[in-house]
Amino acid sequence: MALTPITATPNLSSYDVIIIGGAMMGSSSAWFLSNNPDFDGSVLVVERDPTYEFTSTARTNSCIRQQFSNPLNVRISQFGVEFLRAFRERLGGDPEVPDIVLQEFGYMYLAGNDAAVQVLTESQQVQADHGVATRLMTPEQIAAEYPFYNLDGIVLGSHNPSNEGYFDGNSMFDWWRRKARQNGVEYVTNEVVGINREGDRIESVTLRSGEVITAGTVVNASGPRGAKTAAMAGFALPVEPRRRYTFVFSAERPLDRDLPLTIDPSGVHMRSDGANYLCGCPPYEDPAVAFDDFELDHSIWEDKVWPAIANRVPAFEAVKVVNSWIGHYAFNTLDHNAITGPHPDVTNFIFLNGFSGHGFQQSPAMGRGVSELIAYRGYRTLDMRELGYERILENRPFLEKAII
Ligand SMILES: Cc1cc2nc3c(=O)[nH]c(=O)nc-3n(C[C@H](O)[C@H](O)[C@H](O)COP(=O)(O)OP(=O)(O)OC[C@H]3O[C@@H](n4cnc5c(N)ncnc54)[C@H](O)[C@@H]3O)c2cc1C
Repeated sequence: MALTPITATPNLSSYDVIIIGGAMMGSSSAWFLSNNPDFDGSVLVVERDPTYEFTSTARTNSCIRQQFSNPLNVRISQFGVEFLRAFRERLGGDPEVPDIVLQEFGYMYLAGNDAAVQVLTESQQVQADHGVATRLMTPEQIAAEYPFYNLDGIVLGSHNPSNEGYFDGNSMFDWWRRKARQNGVEYVTNEVVGINREGDRIESVTLRSGEVITAGTVVNASGPRGAKTAAMAGFALPVEPRRRYTFVFSAERPLDRDLPLTIDPSGVHMRSDGANYLCGCPPYEDPAVAFDDFELDHSIWEDKVWPAIANRVPAFEAVKVVNSWIGHYAFNTLDHNAITGPHPDVTNFIFLNGFSGHGFQQSPAMGRGVSELIAYRGYRTLDMRELGYERILENRPFLEKAII
């Protein structure tokens, strides 16, 4: 079905739902809503940058894991895997929709001290209670399966061979967006510059082009700009843009098997990426940055990343960087986790923010959750109230120890 071109001007002056931001989270929500048989309202998605060039979505590493320490995050990712494995079927069986393949090599968390061992051991118990196949491995067991590691200083590993690895999340995004539009969701290229609130209700949003559009419900899916959007409605949100580096490299002597997504105690992580390898890390100092600050500090490769990866995998002494980029996390400074659900007083404002480094894998559960909140005024499948905005108001962190 041909889609009409996306313009700057909405067709209507009033919508049941306005979603601010049309990348991974906005499009997941748009598709889930438009596919929900119990919702027949109108949906407008306002996206300021139709190229998506600087979004977290375009600069992600697109991995999914079950190895979280909080049961809710485990269940969110379990739905993520279930959804991506049945993606075409979920989207209605259209033969044009691709299979979303999961490169299933698992995450390998490496612990170098007693505190890290305790975290991995306790987390493995939580995961096992939820049917996750994580195994704790001694250095000898790791060496037997993955002889390429140098395990000096490593006391324990935690590896889950199933339902973890790399997936093509950007195809999911693209198809969510296309299918949402086929279902009648309207996307416009414009920017929300004001949110107009009357007491305990959001009435409308103001677009950069000047139109004021009435909204039944507003969803804040604006990624690293989430706090800026919340502030337009008068709400404080502890979310800021933080830089994360990614390097893709080829190895002169490639490994003879997949490199699991290895979380090294140095703070660098690395994994197989087709015939190449991908690794990443935070900067030395990790302040909030400007929305347009994507400057790559090249010294970090020489001084931090390469020494760390060559120490852990000696074959990586001889490697060549073939690509590198910076992406912004929408970094939740309270607890590095999603903030989702309605504002407790202004209930027609829904947060979908602060995903830090694990929003891609959470996008199916988040889109489904938003659609349930709007259609039924509450969660129907997975209760995610623990991730609500109330904890921000009460300064009560959501406890998750497995943060990357
Ligand atoms: C380097 C890096 C690696 C990552 N790796 C992983 C990973 O391996 N696994 C994982 O699960 N997650 C990962 N993530 C996180 C994941 O990519 C993000 O959580 C996810 O992409 C967030 O999607 P989003 O739609 O919330 O935000 P974004 O993709 O940033 O989209 C927000 C959108 O809102 C628009 N917008 C903002 N303000 C307005 C406005 N006022 N009006 C209109 N439009 C507006 C923006 O233009 C943008 O398109 C990674 C992130 C980075 C940066």
